[in-house]
Amino acid sequence: MKQISNDIFQINLGSVNVFLVGDTLIDTGFKGSTEKIFSALTKAGKEPHDIKRIILTHCHPDHTGSAAELKAILKVPVYAHEQDAILIEDGIGGGRMHLTPGIINWLVYQLIIKKAGNSIDPLFIDVKVKDGDMIDDMRVIHTPGHSDGHISLLIKDVLIAADICANVTGLAYSTLYEDIKQGRESILRAASFNFEKAVFGHGGPILKDAAKKLYKKFA
Ligand SMILES: [Zn+2]
Ligand SMILES: [Zn+2]
Repeated sequence: MKQISNDIFQINLGSVNVFLVGDTLIDTGFKGSTEKIFSALTKAGKEPHDIKRIILTHCHPDHTGSAAELKAILKVPVYAHEQDAILIEDGIGGGRMHLTPGIINWLVYQLIIKKAGNSIDPLFIDVKVKDGDMIDDMRVIHTPGHSDGHISLLIKDVLIAADICANVTGLAYSTLYEDIKQGRESILRAASFNFEKAVFGHGGPILKDAAKKLYKKFA
């Protein structure tokens, strides 16, 4: 686990990150990630049952794949945006996507995304959230484009950006978008908030001037 701030940790599961914010787990990785998440928690001196809630940033299988299993084991409520919640409850891992141009995107799609397919173990979303909702001290920012019901979360000076863009080999668009134009608008809207650090579903964190860097890259 990589510490991002006082109570925010990034757990790297290989091709995707999940986050622990206090007692909240944000995203769950592909199906089969439960043990990896639990062992990361244990290594950091925490316990699986310290998790009191799960928030899903969006419906894609690399973020929701282990949600049903984790919910069954931990018996905690799961939150997601109302638009992606409908898909998750039907076991659908996303709408029609378009590949962002570039060789790396093509490779990521061929090697990881295509293989994962588009179905997930369905689960009931206990709390459907929308833009502006507060979950304790986390502000929900609806950031559609990558998926219709994609959310980012703002916690003090940290943005959990999820897949609005990626930071694998520097800041860049995510590999896939339902609507990249809308995705860009969402990045810029997220960047209009005040935060120093940003973390992503894919790639490393930005620990300084993150809002400014996002704006500069995509404006
Ligand atoms: Zn995604
Ligand atoms: Zn992702």
